[in-house]
Amino acid sequence: MKFTRTMAGIAAAGLVLTLSACGSSQKTADQTAAPGAASAAGGLVGVTMPTKSSERWIHDGDNIKSALEKLGYKVDLQYAENDIPTQVNQIENQITKGAKLLVIASIDGTAITTQLQEAADRKIPVIAYDRLIRNSPNVDYYATFDNFKVGVEQANSLVKGLGDGAGPFNIELFAGSPDDNNATFFFNGAMSVLKPLMDSGKLVVKSTQTDFARAAILRWDPATAQRRMEDLLTKTYTGGAKVAGVLSPYDGLSIGILSALKSNGYGTAGQPYPIVTGQDAEVASVKSIIAGEQYSTIFKDTRILADTTVKMADAVLKGGKPEVNNTKDYDNGKKVVPSYLLQPVTVDKANYQKELVDSGYYTAGQLK
Ligand code: BGC
Repeated sequence: MKFTRTMAGIAAAGLVLTLSACGSSQKTADQTAAPGAASAAGGLVGVTMPTKSSERWIHDGDNIKSALEKLGYKVDLQYAENDIPTQVNQIENQITKGAKLLVIASIDGTAITTQLQEAADRKIPVIAYDRLIRNSPNVDYYATFDNFKVGVEQANSLVKGLGDGAGPFNIELFAGSPDDNNATFFFNGAMSVLKPLMDSGKLVVKSTQTDFARAAILRWDPATAQRRMEDLLTKTYTGGAKVAGVLSPYDGLSIGILSALKSNGYGTAGQPYPIVTGQDAEVASVKSIIAGEQYSTIFKDTRILADTTVKMADAVLKGGKPEVNNTKDYDNGKKVVPSYLLQPVTVDKANYQKELVDSGYYTAGQLK
């Protein structure tokens, strides 16, 4: 496997503007506008999110719904508790109810091809939200964060946390759900930083489980991550060997990983926790960062993602072309989906106040 920026083309990083630039000078997709007409204004928009078991999706759903309603649309917002058939039914229902546009954060990016064909037959445009929908030509736009960069940032933070010493440092690698297109982008981004350090011997994956398939955690399930970490500790870290860092791609997994570490004697003055990364800046993880347990997370401001998506939806529904800033990196197997990529921000103990509290994402009270 090549851990380069090839497909994920981080040339995007150069193109992507800061979050505040949402409405400014990006280029526009060089393609015909998705179906949709002025008559759709005020119509129903179907929004499907994967699960309420992770806070971020609750914020995403709420933010999209209220922004669309402010523009006068009606919104059908559904959560599928990570169950693929449930999500398929929800999308089918929204099509039947006469939705004029669909915003979909998919559970399995390959499982809704039939529904999307149905949507296309009825000229209902589709925006993939945060996660790319794969293997379908019927995805009009994609709004997300720079997913390769998320992985790069996770790995940079892991390396920073390990400090300036020469090593070797024992690390273990976790990846997200294999049916989520983002998971490979995160992993490849991280490996673009870690692999050279593994090759030089500074970092050692003591379990030798370095490939995506071994590291992946189906459906991003915290309990599965906890079990895998326990397994790694029992089988690999024997005879006094200690793990110094864990690449975790999502806060929920980080919590599971930290629990496994705790049951194995980490988290004491004599044996501090290893450097554990994360993603989403969920409240429990930010508290853990403040308490000196989890080391860092990646903050993806769902307010801005929702806003970007709603602007896209509104433009499409009015028969126009939304702004995009990437037209080459997100090939879904059938087409390159015109995308708008936002910038992730690494958050640790040093900057959580500025990024999360001063920005109004959380109140200080929520993090107590
Ligand atoms: C999202 C992440 C999230 C993960 C688990 C990914 O598709 O991009 O923000 O941590 O799913 O919900």
